[in-house]
Amino acid sequence: MPVTERLYYSDSHLIEFEARVVDLSDRVSGWTAVVLDRTAFYPTGGGQPSDTGTLNGARVVECIDDGDNGVLHVVQGATPSRGDVVRGRIDWSRRLDHMQQHTGQHILSQAFITLFNAPTRSFRVLESVCEIDVELNNPTTEVIERAVELANNVIWEDRTITVRNVTSAEAAELQLRKEPARDGDLRLIEIEGFDLTPCGGTHAYRTGEIGMIAVRSWERAKGLTRIEFVAGVRALADYRKANKSGREVAALFSTGRDDAPQVAAQMVEEHKELNRRIRALEESVAEAEAEKLLASASAGVVTKVFDNRDAESLKKLAHALIVNPHTIALLASRDNDTARLVFARSADAAGDMNALMREACALLDGRGGGRPEMAQGGGKNVEKIDDALTHALTLLNRAS
Ligand SMILES: [Zn+2]
Repeated sequence: MPVTERLYYSDSHLIEFEARVVDLSDRVSGWTAVVLDRTAFYPTGGGQPSDTGTLNGARVVECIDDGDNGVLHVVQGATPSRGDVVRGRIDWSRRLDHMQQHTGQHILSQAFITLFNAPTRSFRVLESVCEIDVELNNPTTEVIERAVELANNVIWEDRTITVRNVTSAEAAELQLRKEPARDGDLRLIEIEGFDLTPCGGTHAYRTGEIGMIAVRSWERAKGLTRIEFVAGVRALADYRKANKSGREVAALFSTGRDDAPQVAAQMVEEHKELNRRIRALEESVAEAEAEKLLASASAGVVTKVFDNRDAESLKKLAHALIVNPHTIALLASRDNDTARLVFARSADAAGDMNALMREACALLDGRGGGRPEMAQGGGKNVEKIDDALTHALTLLNRAS
């Protein structure tokens, strides 16, 4: 006889029960583990998290399967004594959630086998979603949604779910969805006309209790397809979240939720087109500006300090200048608290812009460099920006 009779095996909907305390031990957490002669609490296992609840009103924060030593109920607060009869109560909303996810997984896994001969390799109930790893090679929206549709049809047909206890010899004659994890007598979960598999977890009485299944996403992982899904109460919570996001995005585009993707796509296209036009306009402006600067330049050398001009804009102007022959541009900008420099020359002009840039940046307490025809840099010593440009011009004149 095992130490703890597991009442959840025969009744997954049992919320309250009485039991006798058979053992007590201290946990490293400082809490106490209580072993009972019988329990309705499901301990962590098979991808399903443990139940929580109360024992004589004290919180049961976790239950651990200790094999032949029974189920450990980790109790926070007043603990009973050995031999006491205690009243246990499990948190039903948590149990219902776990049963919906877990029974939902039986159905979804069988749907992938029925349709695509793709078995499930592992299953996890996480904080707000569930995961299965399926041997499915080419997941597409169509493939995944076909399995989801079959699973939901099985749910809405409200089929009965029964527990069958069989010997290993009897099990060998049956078509089970997965191999039993252990020898000896087996507990099989049968979903009427759809699925038969060994399992020690808690399950719904009928498939209708699961409500519905929805797949959130999937990805290829370690040769398998990892599918993230939600069932029952989690599907509703996820719908609420998705609907809220959808409506918030739609409101940004002043449209309805269902029209938002199309309106957003249109907006992205318009944004790209506007950017193209801005770039073209900037080039025209730079050309006009270059013409003006060249008119007042001495010996083809343009030196100018701007305010609040970014590096990109300086470079555009430099390019517009040096398309003209025998031209050198020594440009600078006070951009917030940074000094920016761009030096450039036309192919037929003399001078090493890279060398000039290094010298100028040293004055700005910064750094820069580039090629002999074009270099850029900057520094934080903004008040030296005029000196840096004058210095570069002096060096340029000395070299020529
Ligand atoms: Zn199960």
